[in-house]
Order: sequence, then C-alpha cells, then structure tokens
Amino acid sequence: MSNRRFAARGLSRDEIAAAMATLRADDQSWDDPRNLKASYFAGEDVTRIATEAFAQHMDDNVIYGASSYPSLPAYEAEVVAMGLDMLEAPEGAGGTVTTGGTESIAVAVKTARDWARDHKPRATAPEIVLPRTAHVAFDKAAHLFGLKVRRMAGSVEYRADVAAMADAIGPNTVMIVASAPPYPYANVDPVREIAALAVAHDLWMHVDACVGGFVLPFARDLGHAVPDFDFTVPGVTSMSADLHKYGYALRGSSLLLLRDAALEDYQRFESSDWPAGRYATMGIAGSRNGGPVASAWAVMRYLGRDGYRARVAKILDAKRRLIAGIEGIAGLAVLGAPEGGHFAFVSTDHDTSAIALAMTERSWMLARGEDPAAIMLLLNHRHGEIVDDFLADLRAAVDDVASGRVVAPGEGAVYAL
Ligand SMILES: *Cc1c(COP(=O)(O)O)cnc(C)c1O
Repeated sequence: MSNRRFAARGLSRDEIAAAMATLRADDQSWDDPRNLKASYFAGEDVTRIATEAFAQHMDDNVIYGASSYPSLPAYEAEVVAMGLDMLEAPEGAGGTVTTGGTESIAVAVKTARDWARDHKPRATAPEIVLPRTAHVAFDKAAHLFGLKVRRMAGSVEYRADVAAMADAIGPNTVMIVASAPPYPYANVDPVREIAALAVAHDLWMHVDACVGGFVLPFARDLGHAVPDFDFTVPGVTSMSADLHKYGYALRGSSLLLLRDAALEDYQRFESSDWPAGRYATMGIAGSRNGGPVASAWAVMRYLGRDGYRARVAKILDAKRRLIAGIEGIAGLAVLGAPEGGHFAFVSTDHDTSAIALAMTERSWMLARGEDPAAIMLLLNHRHGEIVDDFLADLRAAVDDVASGRVVAPGEGAVYAL
C-alpha cells in the first residue's frame, strides 16, 4: 500500500486517471451480460438519458430546492405522481423520493412509530412483525428508531408465514410488513392476508416493493399471474419502490409512498429554533445531490409504461427459459414460484456454494443466498442473450462438483459487508 498520508502536492489529471484505473482493475462491470448480480442495465440509450440528466443537476442540492432549484421539487412531484399511478394509489396519496430502499424503509418505520404514538398509545414498546424474508433494512431502522423486531422463524412455501405473524401480533405491535417480492426467495408474500391482519388489528402495513415495484405492474399487464400487492389492497398504508433498481434511475433514488398524504405529518421533521432559520425535511439526509431525482424523472419520462413493459417482457422470457433449463438439470430446484425479475435455486444433491464457485470460475457474477444455501439471479433485459451459455456452464459446474473437481469454499453468503 502506498503512502496513506495526505500528500502536499496534488496529482495531474493523467495521474488521477492512472491511479483510478489501477484501483478499478478488479471492479466488476455492471453492464456485462455475465453479471447476474443486482445489475439493472436497461440499454445504452437509457444509461445515456440517466447520466445526462444526472450531470445537469449533480451540483444542485435538493435541500435548497424550494429556494434555489425549483426544478428539483418539480421532478420529485412528477416522479412521485407516476409511482403512485403505477402502484394504484387512491386520490389524496402522497410520497417522497429518498436516497434508496433502506432510507424508504427507515422513514416508513419512523413514520409508523410516530403515527402509533397518536393511534396506539398502549403500545409503549413498539414492535414490528416481519416475515422471515423481509429486508434487513427493517432491523436497521428498528435499531435506529428504538423499535423491536419480531422476525418470523420460517416461511411457508417460501412465502410469509401468515399464521405465525398473526400469533406474533400483540399489544405493542404497531407495524406489519409484506414484500413484493422479498430479496431472498423472491416469492411475493400473501399481501392480502397480511393486510387483513393489519386492518383487524389497526396496524401500519408496509409493502416493500423495492425490487418488484417496477416489475410486477408490468408483469401483470403482460398477463402473468401476479398476486395483488399494491394500494388496491385495503389496509396497505405505505410502499417502497426503488427507482435505482428496476426503475433504471442512477444509484441514490427510491420512492416511499403513503396511501394518505395526511400521514406526512408523522414523517416530516421540522425545527424553527435554529439561528439559520426554519428547517424541514421528509427524509434522513440534509444536503442531497439533485442528480438521482433528475435521472429518475428523465428515465421514467423517456421509457413510459411501454418502455418498462418491453423490458419486463424480455426479463420474464429469460426467466422462463432459465428456470426450465435449471429444472432440467438433475438435482437443481428453483425455490417456489417467483413472480418478479429475480429468483433463487439450490442443489438438492450437492453443495450449492460449490456450484456457485464453479460458476464464478467460469466468469459468471452471481448473487448468493443462505438458509437454504442458494444461487440468486437478478435478471435484466439483456439476459436472454446468455441463457444457453449459462445453462451449458451450469451443467458443467454441477459435473465439476459431482466429480469432486470443485469443493465448497466453506463460507456463508454475504449480502453486504
Ligand atoms: C434492495 C432492497 C432493499 C434495500 O434497498 P437499498 O436501495 O439497497 O437500500 C429493500 N428491500 C428489498 C426487497 C430490496 O430488494
């Protein structure tokens, strides 16, 4: 490692470029079709639209939107309106653009907590009831905002165990969650049944559609079987949908949507006792780059519903072919019946992590799951191109493991470290 101190002399532009090339040498290429990790590539044209819009606003600060950059709240209002329309929100709904799924979930948890202070005063130690697979961002939010998590011990057919969730509801429960779909297993939870629990017990219900929000509505349009998951389901209070996943905006953008804009009173932070003046924000950040929301606006307007639907059609076609191929290989099984753009599979005969290693050695970039150890594929519209190569290599990888040429690396799955 070179000198880590802060050098007195600055580098030239060429030296910076050379140093960055060295640092980036081992980085994965996100738009490589062999990348089946979270790589939401929607085409060179979409990338260009997103980056040009981002570049125009990358020096603008969302927190000064109202005073200095009225375009930014205008983009946000339109992005929220399009998201509400896509997820079938009723008149009078509201929403916010946040920096990502984790912030959307954190703000939903904080808003539910503050709503419960008014509506459920007997819940003195507030709790959230989570399916087994709900994103770990709920635990992070509960940690930050002083709630307790009751995460279920298991799933039923890879979906939320609704009976266990019903049993877990108690006097301190304020919030209940479903995912459409969850990141692990990728099977949409029974949103209607969980929402019925929310109605019966007067709970805040959040549907986490971070990864599915921009896939499922178009899958449904295309005639695929998609269980009800959005604001058409009575009892759904809030939803998250990531603009920077299948919304194809640049990283740093997600939607938090509320059935009723009046609930924003529990979301907003306000202070009027500070020498710099009044301060109010709807999210966690203070200063925020204008680029992500501009990129989201530009991509949504560029693609329209037709553009998203065309990409979802290709994704689901690639998924169908991949699943048919995987299930045709002895000992491999897809988990459940995933409805969105990603899915997981396991080996019932061999160590799945060894198969993942054999695929990595063949230069595939894969995501992993555990409990059970699984390989996860997150598809984008280009993955139709690699289906045959992928399946051929997968057959060879299974043979490698069966014959003992490749053995398990002996470590668990890592989502983020
Ligand atoms: C990605 C994801 C999140 C978290 O979103 P970030 O943008 O990574 O913070 C939450 N829930 C689900 C289902 C996700 O797939």
